[in-house]
Amino acid sequence: MCCDLKRRFLLLYATQKGQAKAIAEEIWQQAGAHGLEADMHCISEMDKYNLETEKDPVVIVISTTGTGDPPDTARKFVRKIRDTTLPPDHFSHLQYGLLGLGDSEYTFFCNGGKTVDRRLQELGAQHFYDTGLADDCVGLELVVDPWIDGLWLALKEAFLLQKEKESMSSDVNAVSSALSAAPHIVHELSSEVQNLKLEDGVKSSGVLTQKLVDLNLVASTGDTEPSLVHSVPPVSQSALNIPALPPEYIEVQFQDVHGENPHLSSLISGGTAFEVPVTKAIQLTREDAIKTALLLELDIADTVFDYQPGDAFCVICPNNVNEVEELLHILGLSEKGDCLVCVKVKQGTKKKGATCPQHIPERGTLKFILTWCLEIRAVPKKAFLRALVECTSDAREKRRLQELCSRQGASDYTRFIREPNVCLLDLLHAFPSCKPSLNLLIEHLPKLQARSYSVSSSNLHQPGKLWFVFNIVEFPACPTRAVSRKGVCTGWLAELVAPLLHPSTNTLDARGGSPSTEKIFIFARPNNTFHLPADPSVPLMMVGPGTGISPFIGFLQHRQKLRKEHTDWEFGETWLFFGCRHQDRDYLFKQLRCFLENGTLTHLKVCFSRDSSTAEVAPPKYVQDVIRFYAKEVARILLKEGGYFYVCGDKKHMADGVSDAVVDIISMEMQVDRLEAMKILAMLREAKRYLQDVWS
Ligand code: FAD
Repeated sequence: MCCDLKRRFLLLYATQKGQAKAIAEEIWQQAGAHGLEADMHCISEMDKYNLETEKDPVVIVISTTGTGDPPDTARKFVRKIRDTTLPPDHFSHLQYGLLGLGDSEYTFFCNGGKTVDRRLQELGAQHFYDTGLADDCVGLELVVDPWIDGLWLALKEAFLLQKEKESMSSDVNAVSSALSAAPHIVHELSSEVQNLKLEDGVKSSGVLTQKLVDLNLVASTGDTEPSLVHSVPPVSQSALNIPALPPEYIEVQFQDVHGENPHLSSLISGGTAFEVPVTKAIQLTREDAIKTALLLELDIADTVFDYQPGDAFCVICPNNVNEVEELLHILGLSEKGDCLVCVKVKQGTKKKGATCPQHIPERGTLKFILTWCLEIRAVPKKAFLRALVECTSDAREKRRLQELCSRQGASDYTRFIREPNVCLLDLLHAFPSCKPSLNLLIEHLPKLQARSYSVSSSNLHQPGKLWFVFNIVEFPACPTRAVSRKGVCTGWLAELVAPLLHPSTNTLDARGGSPSTEKIFIFARPNNTFHLPADPSVPLMMVGPGTGISPFIGFLQHRQKLRKEHTDWEFGETWLFFGCRHQDRDYLFKQLRCFLENGTLTHLKVCFSRDSSTAEVAPPKYVQDVIRFYAKEVARILLKEGGYFYVCGDKKHMADGVSDAVVDIISMEMQVDRLEAMKILAMLREAKRYLQDVWS
């Protein structure tokens, strides 16, 4: 009976940065091994599929972008299904399973997927498989892998039911007899599924069930602690289910001519990049502060780049030059660094719809590609590990890599790769017999993304200048990383501006060191609502501990200028909540007092989380504690006076704490329960009066 089953399903992906596409390709790949055929399309290719007439199951993989929007490639699709004239049974013939991708660091987690899911349900479509919501914050694979594992059985059940449905509707008599035999059918269906399951286990060509033949492959018996390179039972003694080997699809040719590299502005897909000089650099923190914060000033006067206070922008950054050299050395390509690389799709590749990654230029040197195009620090995905197995000669190393990408080794993967943010170089050091080829790196490493920063100035206050503030990200050495590292972008910027760095004068005048000739490429980050209210008389509260203060400096500069220029205007009350560890080490802008003194700021509330206090009642440590202290004022401004509430900075440790405090304040002041208070906060968010600009 199973060979009669219809085995095609429609696979749609809506991707922004390529993750949803990569996952869809993984599904497409595995489908073959399960005897199924995935008809895969980008959701934007609406001429290639038709949901209105689709009879087969549909699988949708969709990511989320911006502040909870579906990816750009899904815009047209979403517009279409949102058509309010569609009847509620429009998609009643449709069976689908949806996998949403998102990042719980952001408020509207997986909202791209949720939006499509909700609308398909409203239009009568049925789930044949539960929706999966994968979180990039903890690792997409924690949900994606089991979701894909379960998909095959769900699809086969869907095919069986579909087949029964079809035969039932083909003949009214058959329907009645089928109905009378319902218990039997149900039994037959479930035994069919069982058979398929068994058959899968035996036949599956994609999932390699490998018996551990030689127990000597595991390290010495005295070694009881697992590590990146060493496993212990049960993993070390298990038969492993490892993913199918992803087909290679890229072919690389070196041209021994030393060529011209593309212009850096060609690295961004839309918009324009501007090359601007860094004119000042100031260290805002003292040497003994836990984190080092820098303020940089860019000269944008000779460009048409424009911004509003509250905007963020992107910096195009390179990988660390030493890491690139090291990688070239390990790949045995040190001599070829300056050669032009020609990247093509491999002839006869089994990868469906294989195309050259868009972030790899047609003509660029090897060094250029490794420096500007590939995120060499990315945590290797399991498919990459699987591919690396094939380039590893040592049997023990091979086995460990297999374990790390296997189902049995899932928690080792999380513990030794995902959580410590192990990168390709760390792996190549730990597994020295692994010698991947360049094409593998191009196939598996993601695009090196530009990093976003909030503007920390006002173009009204200082035309032609742009300030931004950042912490230098530090990753200390650990068992899986022999050397300490700095963040890709912040480490590079810190090095770049070192010659002009002025030790903390901590002044808002940003009088940095000597003029510099260093230039960086920046471009605008669209879609921002984190702006001052259009009406200056509206009161506002700003919460920005640490570098979260950054956009509020821009707000305050702007307001200060407006107050000077428009003495007849009415300006609303302004509150700023700032916090840091130590008053004398990392109070980034002590001159905030100037804003207080000239009336731009009505209230400045600061707290220091690590300073000891001799006061009888300990002062509040964190901004959320201070906010609770001013509950009545928060409620007045937010609920009675139609004011705005802005939160900027660290998501994990601060923004959630602040919104919890605000929910409690609403609940207390309005005498409603927490759930009701949360709804009110959601309404304030919707009305864009509670605004967040948060990052991890
Ligand atoms: P990366 O190398 O990208 O590392 C950053 C993160 O990657 C770490 O936090 C960690 O989670 C992970 N990671 C990578 N490698 C390792 C490793 N080996 N060990 C442990 N963890 C690792 N930042 C500011 O400082 N100021 C701002 O004003 C600001 N504004 C922003 C505005 C927006 C809209 C967004 C989205 C982000 C903003 N950020 C801001 C964050 C900023 O974009 C960068 O993420 C940050 O500066 C780090 O970049 P990086 O390249 O130096 O670090």
